[in-house]
Amino acid sequence: MDSLPIVGAGLAGSEAALQLADAGIPVRLFEMRPGTPTAAHRTGDAAEIVCSNSLGSFLPDRAGGVLQNELRALGCKLLPIAEAHAVPAGQALAVNRDTFAAAVTAELEAHPKIDLIRQEVKCIPADDFVILASGPLTSDALASDIAKISGEENLSFFDAIAPVVTDASLDKSIIFAASRWRPEEDDYLNIPIDKEQYLALIDGLIFGEKHDLKGFEAADPRAKQFFERCLPVEVLAARGKESLRFGPLRPVGLDDPRTRRRPYAVVQMRRENKQGTMWNLVGFQTNLAYGEQEKLLRALPGMQNAEFVRLGSMHRNTFVCAPKLLHSTLEWRTRQGLFLAGQLTGMEGYLGNIGSGLLAARGVLARIEGREPQKLPVETLLGALTFHISSATASSFQPMKAEFGILPPLDWKKRTKEERRQANADRSKKALADFLAAL
Ligand SMILES: Cc1cc2nc3c(=O)[nH]c(=O)nc-3n(C[C@H](O)[C@H](O)[C@H](O)COP(=O)(O)OP(=O)(O)OC[C@H]3O[C@@H](n4cnc5c(N)ncnc54)[C@H](O)[C@@H]3O)c2cc1C
Repeated sequence: MDSLPIVGAGLAGSEAALQLADAGIPVRLFEMRPGTPTAAHRTGDAAEIVCSNSLGSFLPDRAGGVLQNELRALGCKLLPIAEAHAVPAGQALAVNRDTFAAAVTAELEAHPKIDLIRQEVKCIPADDFVILASGPLTSDALASDIAKISGEENLSFFDAIAPVVTDASLDKSIIFAASRWRPEEDDYLNIPIDKEQYLALIDGLIFGEKHDLKGFEAADPRAKQFFERCLPVEVLAARGKESLRFGPLRPVGLDDPRTRRRPYAVVQMRRENKQGTMWNLVGFQTNLAYGEQEKLLRALPGMQNAEFVRLGSMHRNTFVCAPKLLHSTLEWRTRQGLFLAGQLTGMEGYLGNIGSGLLAARGVLARIEGREPQKLPVETLLGALTFHISSATASSFQPMKAEFGILPPLDWKKRTKEERRQANADRSKKALADFLAAL
């Protein structure tokens, strides 16, 4: 067969290329750097890690450790390279980013089945089988071409992530289900707050420590437009003490069933998934430091034990609306043979992105061999993540990383936090072993 094009030699594209090449499939791996740089990468190396050098905890009962074990069992190519270039970081797998990227680049360049081509790809290749892995900083020309098949409205250039909490961690004796004006509907959960709690929240939002936008994000002409449309909650709070109470926190139509009275303000949560195991805080997209977010939100009634699947953030990020466009195998719904991988799919996190490259390669391989691409069990973190991005609520879809909160619920009430972690780890291991044994 002709060689198969993969666009982007980041974490996802490099993993996909090594998977396919080792399976005997010739690959053209396109990377636009160093000739066409991005605003965040510094080098021309493949798999350059641009921010934190940590790939997460390696403890076997933490999300990072579970994901590492899943990747190992699936034959991941980049994980052993990361381990060979690890630097001491307590209980986390952190890498020397320069030697790691250099080692991945050397492996790609030395592979007889891989042609690493330093060139910007401006249109989606027309080949029968394609992997797009051009990442959060996909070049503008390619992004425009992706928008042609996705629809402009289904391609984002910034994320606006509000904190997401697990259903199981909420105190439902205080937090009540009701849609505005339709108390019988349970599409929303509502946190009733009194005046004192509201004012404390406003103060925390205004004076809490924040992450600043990076220089290149602030300079992006699209950023201003985006942030005006989708204001961080702290910016809205700073516009006046009442602005949230007359905006996303307005209590109208949301009487508290305990008192049958309208609360002073209401923080609403919208379903993050159809199963209702995760909820996102409406209007709470934020650049507040993570610690501040946890402190402020756990101070709200019924939120004292809140477990965060993810915390809020807003930054530059190109991603498609995966629930509308992708199967959980990462294949484009309306173009068989076209697979997406990495951050472009709406996945976050280094390990998840490496895993997505591995899955896209497995999917392509299945198609080449005339088989249906297979879904991973949802009891695995990687399976749960791909399931999530392809089935989340499309209208409010924002990127997600692999955390225990995205897994199907356990019988958690009978367990401590440690027991729940262990149970999730054991369940993932068994589900993946059964899946691999059945192949
Ligand atoms: C500023 C910033 C900070 C981040 N910090 C973190 C963090 O701390 N932790 C975390 O988990 N994640 C972080 N991320 C997300 C991180 O980028 C991903 O987790 C991971 O690198 C994504 O892998 P990827 O393969 O999808 O994309 P990348 O690793 O970005 O790879 C995509 C590659 O495609 C190339 N490319 C783009 N367009 C084209 C084109 N048209 N033709 C050819 N090549 C192209 C790019 O040059 C790049 O090498 C951050 C992202 C950014 C932008």
